[in-house]
Amino acid sequence: MWRIRGGRRSLIRSVDGDLITQAQAVSNPLLDIQNTQSFDSQESNNIRSMFGTTAKCTHLTNNVVESFNAFIGDARAKPIIFCIDAIRLKIMPKINYRRMSAERWKGVLVPEAQKQLMELSKNKGMYDVHRSSNDRAEVDGPEGRWDVILSEKYCSCRRWQVTGMPCNYAAAVIAHMRNARWEDYVDECYSVARYKAA
Ligand SMILES: [Zn+2]
Repeated sequence: MWRIRGGRRSLIRSVDGDLITQAQAVSNPLLDIQNTQSFDSQESNNIRSMFGTTAKCTHLTNNVVESFNAFIGDARAKPIIFCIDAIRLKIMPKINYRRMSAERWKGVLVPEAQKQLMELSKNKGMYDVHRSSNDRAEVDGPEGRWDVILSEKYCSCRRWQVTGMPCNYAAAVIAHMRNARWEDYVDECYSVARYKAA
């Protein structure tokens, strides 16, 4: 099951596909709230329409609070001033480590984004691209046919808008272009400049 963003209540989709409230899920011991679904899973296609496109993210579930709790450990039991100071001491070396790592990166994009683009550029043989202009195409692939508009970083499957990284369908169109600059089709949040600024 997975959480769904949007609406007034936090809804969770159960394993059998029903929408239920979080309270209902907690009261049912047969349901596993912590179960996570890959963004690439077939089920995720059904709920991607509920996701906003401002924040770019590949995760369907949000365990940030749980992860942060585990990270700060005993600090969360301390009085607030000591708690904040303990968190500061834990975060400071991490920020420094990441700043030093970023100084060594030569490309426009962070290494993980470059790796993903390399993978995407290999798959174009599985997709049929039907161009209607330099900017637009319809692409046939294993999951159906989707519209792609390059200048808007848009694909009707919505993965590109939600994650900021071209989906396989958009990648197929980009791969067919001459001298394509892949980094132009990736959201700015994957750039080294943004990483350093953060
Ligand atoms: Zn797509």
